[in-house]
Amino acid sequence: MLPRRSHELPPTAGLPLRLSDLRPGAATLAADIAAQLGTPPLQLECSGTASLLIALTALHELQPQRRRVVVPAFTCPLVAIAVQQAGLELQLCDLRAGHYDMDPVALRAACDERTLAIIPTHLAGRVADVDDALAVANNVGAYVIEDAAQALGARRAGVSVGLAGDIGFFSLAAGKGLSIYEGGLLLARDPKLHEQLARTAARIVPHRFGWEWKRSIELLGYAALYQPRGLRLAYGNPLRRALRRGDPVSAVGDDFPLTIPLHRVGRWRQAVGAHAATRLPAFLDQLSAQAQRRLPRLRLIDGIEVLDDPAGAQGTWPFLLLLLPDQKRRDAALAQLWQAGLGVSRLFIHALPDYAYLADIVPAQDVPHARDFAARSLSISNSPWMTDDDFETICRTLEAVLI
Ligand SMILES: *Cc1c(COP(=O)(O)O)cnc(C)c1O
Repeated sequence: MLPRRSHELPPTAGLPLRLSDLRPGAATLAADIAAQLGTPPLQLECSGTASLLIALTALHELQPQRRRVVVPAFTCPLVAIAVQQAGLELQLCDLRAGHYDMDPVALRAACDERTLAIIPTHLAGRVADVDDALAVANNVGAYVIEDAAQALGARRAGVSVGLAGDIGFFSLAAGKGLSIYEGGLLLARDPKLHEQLARTAARIVPHRFGWEWKRSIELLGYAALYQPRGLRLAYGNPLRRALRRGDPVSAVGDDFPLTIPLHRVGRWRQAVGAHAATRLPAFLDQLSAQAQRRLPRLRLIDGIEVLDDPAGAQGTWPFLLLLLPDQKRRDAALAQLWQAGLGVSRLFIHALPDYAYLADIVPAQDVPHARDFAARSLSISNSPWMTDDDFETICRTLEAVLI
């Protein structure tokens, strides 16, 4: 195992907050991001999961006879929790072999006249194949919701992700790029659907001052600790403790509560987000340039596959997602790197059917490609705090494992 250092790199490249971001100000976060992205108005919610829950609730009101929601079998457990909390049925779709997209054949088999929505997912900032989901959705009369939780700022043909499908959402959770500790942004191409989302939220989302108070304190903690020294305390030490206990699910924060809170986001957190958002375009450009510089080095390593965007797409780069040839070598790499403070980690530990705590809400299903993806993937942070020396250390360690 590599020696541990006094500072710790985060697993994803979040935009660090500054003290001056914490001053009060105008609650213009959603409008400012919409202007940056060139989208129709965005609707701010208290999390990405809450955004998805509101989207599903609104769509179910439009199509009450349809209850099934088709999701990739390798995605965030919160997606399964949102489907459950909306009172709908989860339907898994296996991935394409060695890819984050849903398999086109499996997708067609999973969808029929009972399908309410299909959720293509822009995983790791990579741009997903929304067109295939749209083709299937049009055929069976379902909606498409783009899960862009990890892809705020990603574009296809110059247009923000989230606008090809009927609805899209972004996450503003801690560590996912721009953060107000917990938050989400909802997007609909069609103004009528946008109004429907606003009506649904007005009906089901209450003011809950206790939650907003808690999130405000958490945001202060995040602002203070999201730097290489603070992260050792807030991220690295708990990670290493969980790994020593043999609990990788908790190590990467995959152990979510089975109900998620719904409440309105207060003005102060919106102002903090709006202040930080002024730095977001330059930050995303910086990450993209750093990724483009580092990808060729990784690709020189025999046996490593780095996930990239399809032609014409410009994703975002919170981290680099790799596939190693097999689980044995992936695990050997992690044995060296996971606890080293270098920002090397895993995305989601399991395919959705393999989380014990989700057994009651995820159907047991054989999803070999999703399982293979979970077994062979690892992530390398694209944080600007990672130096070229750090990155070279990671590359050499991977080379040693792959010989
Ligand atoms: C994080 C995440 C979500 C949920 O977003 P939160 O803001 O954390 O609730 C949904 N889907 C994917 C793919 C995610 O990574």
